[in-house]
Amino acid sequence: MLCATSTTIRAFILFKCAAAKPQLCSKTHIYSRPGSLYYKFSMSACRSPPREVHLGDGADGSITLQEWQGWGTISPIPALVTDIVEDMKILERDIDSHMSFGGLGGKLKGHFGVQEDKKHRATYQALGDSEKKLQFFSARQIACRLLGSKGYLCQKCWLPMEDCMCSKVRPCSLWHRIRFWLYMHPKDFLRQNNTGKLLWQVFGVEAATLCLFGIAEHEEIMWNSFKLAGKGKVWCLYPNKGAVLKSVQDAFDQDLLENSDCTQSVANEDETLNFILIDGTWSNSAAMFRRLKEQAKTIWGEEELPCITLAAGASAMHKLSFLLQFECRPQPSWDRTCTAAAAVGLLSELQLLQQFSSWGLDKQAEAVEDALEVLLEALTTRRLRMGRSITRKVRHSTDIC
Ligand SMILES: [Zn+2]
Repeated sequence: MLCATSTTIRAFILFKCAAAKPQLCSKTHIYSRPGSLYYKFSMSACRSPPREVHLGDGADGSITLQEWQGWGTISPIPALVTDIVEDMKILERDIDSHMSFGGLGGKLKGHFGVQEDKKHRATYQALGDSEKKLQFFSARQIACRLLGSKGYLCQKCWLPMEDCMCSKVRPCSLWHRIRFWLYMHPKDFLRQNNTGKLLWQVFGVEAATLCLFGIAEHEEIMWNSFKLAGKGKVWCLYPNKGAVLKSVQDAFDQDLLENSDCTQSVANEDETLNFILIDGTWSNSAAMFRRLKEQAKTIWGEEELPCITLAAGASAMHKLSFLLQFECRPQPSWDRTCTAAAAVGLLSELQLLQQFSSWGLDKQAEAVEDALEVLLEALTTRRLRMGRSITRKVRHSTDIC
C-alpha cells in the first residue's frame, strides 16, 4: 500500500524537517539532506535542450516590467539587470552572433557564450569592491536566466510550457499576520525544481515575497518592511548549528511574555510576523545568512538576527514505518525537501501554539503540501516523457543548477 493520508504526510514532513541536519555537501539545498530521494531527483531534473534566443534590436530583446513581475516579483526591474541585457544586445551586434542557452539554469553556449564569458569576467575583475561584485554577479545570473527562459518556461510555475502545472495548484490565503520572504540565491531563480516559488503560487506574491540575494531593489523592499515591523517581528528560519537558534515555541513564548497580555496579545497586534526562508544550497546559504546579519547590523546596530529552527516533531513509530514505506516507493519523492517543506513545518508548529491555533495554519500548510505533490508529479511526468530514468541511481557528480 503506497498511498498515505495527508495527515501522515504532514507528520512525515515535520519528522523529516526535524531530522535534517546541517551538511557539508555544498550542493545540497539548505533545507535538504544529501541522500534523500528528492535531492537525488533534483540533481537531474533540470536539464534542458539548447535553445537559441534572438534578441535583435529594439524593444523585443528588452525585459518589460510586466514580464519581469510575471516571474513572481513585485519589484521594479533591477537597473543592473536591464544594463546587462542591453550589454548583451550590443555584444550580439558587435560579434554578429546570436546568444544560445542550454544545459542548466540559463547557461550561455556557443561562440556568443565564449565571448560573453570573457567580457563579463573582465567587467567583474575591474569592479572595485565586493558589494559591487556581488551585485554584478547576481544581476548577470538573473539576466541570463530571464533571457534563457523567455518563451520556454511558464512564468508562474517555472516549468517548461508543455509541463505547466498551474491549473493543478490550489491557491489559499495565508493568515494576514504572516509574511514569508523567500531570500533566494540567483542560481535558484527560475529553477524548475525550486520549491520556494510554490509559496507565492499558493499564497500570492504579497504573502510570500521573493527577495533575490544581491539584487538591490529586492533587498531594499525587504529591509524597508523589516524596519517598519521592528526586530521583534522578524525571524530567519536557519537550521545551522553555528547560529543562535530558538524553537518556534521558545520564540513565541518569549514573544508572549514580552507582550504580557497572554493569548490575545499576538493575535490582536496589527503587525506582521516576517519569516525569512533562505532558498539556496548549503554553501551559498552561509554567505546569504552573513549578508542578512550584516544588513541587520546596519539597521538595528547588532548582528544577531533572530533565528528559529523547527523542533523535533513527533517521532512515533508509525511515522518511522511510513518513512520506510516511502523509501521503497518506485518514484522520487519530495519528502525531506526544501524551502516549501520548511514553510509547511513552520506553519504546522505554529498551529500547535495556543495563540495561533485559530487561524487555520494547518489548512494553509496543507495547501503547500498539495502544491509540492503537484510539482513532484509534474517533474516526474516530465522526466518520463523525456525518456529519463526516475530511479534513484543518479550520479552525484552531476552539476546542480
Ligand atoms: Zn505554469
